[in-house]
Amino acid sequence: MKKALKLFLVAFIIAFSLLNLAAEELHPRLKKAVASIDPILPYQLTRTLASPEFAGRLTGHEGYTKAAKWAATKFKEWGLKPLDNKNGYLQPYPSPYTVIDQASMTLYLPTNPGQDGKLEYQSVGLKPEKDFLPLLYAASGNKTSELVFVGWGISAPELNYDDYAGVDVRDKFVLCFRGTPDPARREFQYHDEHRTRMRVAKEKGALGLIYIYPEAQANPNGDWLADFMPGMITEKTADLIFKEINSSTAELKKALQTYKRPISFALKSKLAYSVTSRHFPDGIGYNIAGWVEGSDPKLKKELIIIGAHFDHCGQHLGLLFAGANDNASGSAVVMTLAKAFASLYPRPKRSVMFVLFGGEELGLQGSNYFAEHLPSGFDKVVAMFNFDMEGEGDGAWCGVSAEAPTIKEAIEQANKHINIIRGINAIRNIGVRSSDFAPFFLKGIPCASFGSNGPHLAYHQTGDTIYRINPEIMGSIARVSFLSVYYLTEK
Ligand SMILES: [Zn+2]
Repeated sequence: MKKALKLFLVAFIIAFSLLNLAAEELHPRLKKAVASIDPILPYQLTRTLASPEFAGRLTGHEGYTKAAKWAATKFKEWGLKPLDNKNGYLQPYPSPYTVIDQASMTLYLPTNPGQDGKLEYQSVGLKPEKDFLPLLYAASGNKTSELVFVGWGISAPELNYDDYAGVDVRDKFVLCFRGTPDPARREFQYHDEHRTRMRVAKEKGALGLIYIYPEAQANPNGDWLADFMPGMITEKTADLIFKEINSSTAELKKALQTYKRPISFALKSKLAYSVTSRHFPDGIGYNIAGWVEGSDPKLKKELIIIGAHFDHCGQHLGLLFAGANDNASGSAVVMTLAKAFASLYPRPKRSVMFVLFGGEELGLQGSNYFAEHLPSGFDKVVAMFNFDMEGEGDGAWCGVSAEAPTIKEAIEQANKHINIIRGINAIRNIGVRSSDFAPFFLKGIPCASFGSNGPHLAYHQTGDTIYRINPEIMGSIARVSFLSVYYLTEK
């Protein structure tokens, strides 16, 4: 017994060290390919993508289209094959969009009634980005009305929950939080979509819906609705309003979360909101895609898709939302991988396609379109890798489909050489705030999604510029994913 245990231990130790040895030794060709991934390339690509020339890459806008054509020339220069013969590297699809030229908000807060008993108001002018932002699909208008607080802004009679019950919001601005009464109940997810919330508010007769967010963020994820003026104010600004009822944003949110029942009421405070915007219903968005053909006669019919969203929020009110981290950085990593695979000889066995998606910020539109129109000529898609926000921090996280052990093993094996991934989570379902792997995951394609560890503090703000970006983290993420993808092409 003792001897058997000893033998087992010895065998175990030998096997373990062999395993480790295998991890330590990279084939010289691979070693060279990994070493040739220079962090300066993704950094320079990020800087170009985040430059004013591309106007924040709002899908449909000429700034985006210009950037898309620029990326296509890079794919061509590096020797990738175009997605198709007709449109080359660009895959067009319909993408309506809106540009906000001007917006202003003024609050009228009730003070003590004057001697005649009439309410008097104190006006507070709000500053763009510091206190408020229009949602980036707001229609033009100039309206003043009282506010009505409607909790989460959810009307779900089928779930026995209605924030609109008992309040009249006709010709008023409604004020609410993002979220749902119970995050554990996935059936509320549909009601947490911006589009659902906006449509409901409009159907109830509201002039517009004003979100309360911790900080004002650019957000183009919704549909332009005629005469409807959605916007967003900060929690600090909302606190000024809730003084009227001797409460605060934090108290109201806590009560909603604790009791999971609606708390809705009309306020005396008024909002004057004016927007000048231009809506383009016939906008065209583009995915940009090129690929490297596999070398194995059979396995080249199997495809690995490497993608990142190329778009961001655009330029509005004279503010440039450059989106360096979100997601020029992810696009730059994908482009870096494209270049690395295109110059790898002999070529990998399976085929690899590199896609820069449009319209993620508008609600995963480009990746949905791509997943619905998968390139022909392949037998199957064996994996999808997604990159979203890779530029800030000194480590990486990744999520992998719970049912995809091969992908997880490939990433773990690759990470032994690069040591940058701090943790791998299992992806089991798709939340309302997701990224471009979602449409592929929902089709049953095994997915992996990478992100750097942040802090991502200027998320959807004008501060998301090249000055926040660390070239090294992008280089490391490119290297670890290059190796992971390589292992999958060969297995
Ligand atoms: Zn993003």
